Amino acid sequence: MADVKKVIEIIDKIIADVDEQKLFLTELDNVIGDGDHGINLARGFDAVKTIEGTFEGKDIGAILKAIGMKLVSTVGGASGPLYGTAFMKSGALLNGKTEMDMNDFIEMLQVSIDGIMKRGKAVKGEKTMLDAMIPAHDAIAASYEADKDAKAAEEGIEYTKTIIATKGRASYLGERSIGHQDPGATSFTLMLKAVQELA
Ligand code: ADP
Ligand code: MG
Repeated sequence: MADVKKVIEIIDKIIADVDEQKLFLTELDNVIGDGDHGINLARGFDAVKTIEGTFEGKDIGAILKAIGMKLVSTVGGASGPLYGTAFMKSGALLNGKTEMDMNDFIEMLQVSIDGIMKRGKAVKGEKTMLDAMIPAHDAIAASYEADKDAKAAEEGIEYTKTIIATKGRASYLGERSIGHQDPGATSFTLMLKAVQELA
């Protein structure tokens, strides 16, 4: 599925896509949060860009871990520690590996979900990034087809429109959060699509 070079290519695409979509993500967060999600993430992934030089000679696990640490220290907001946790847990999982396959990716999604659930004290159905991540994981684990996960994540975004936010800033809106898609579910789907396109 991917060697170190491919993983770095995917990271590069995520950096570019987050930057390209930062206003859209921030717009989504403006409606049900505080309007900083895209800006937060773009700041983090711009910082990741600055450490790419240190990836030379590193394995996939070490690279993902370094990205996670960078995201935690630069993103801010709820999503920083959450995405940071996901990358750090993935890094620990893939420690020492210079190649990863579909099984590794499925496990990577699982440890990311577990880490975010623990850190964010959230479960499925609270209108968060988990509502895109969990269906994406389940779809790919059931089919082993990489395009199924992106489709499931997109359906997860649609699902977040139908439910009330009970975690994060959007929860302050209560019922008024209905009808609006979750920014974090949207940013996760963007990253997943980059994986799907290149892996
Ligand atoms: P903040 O809400 O602190 O401004 P961001 O705007 O960067 O942080 O990120 C908001 C996103 O973070 C939400 O759209 C949601 O997907 C996710 N999120 C917020 N709180 C939690 C939580 N407790 N568990 C999981 N995801 C969360
Ligand atoms: Mg916000």
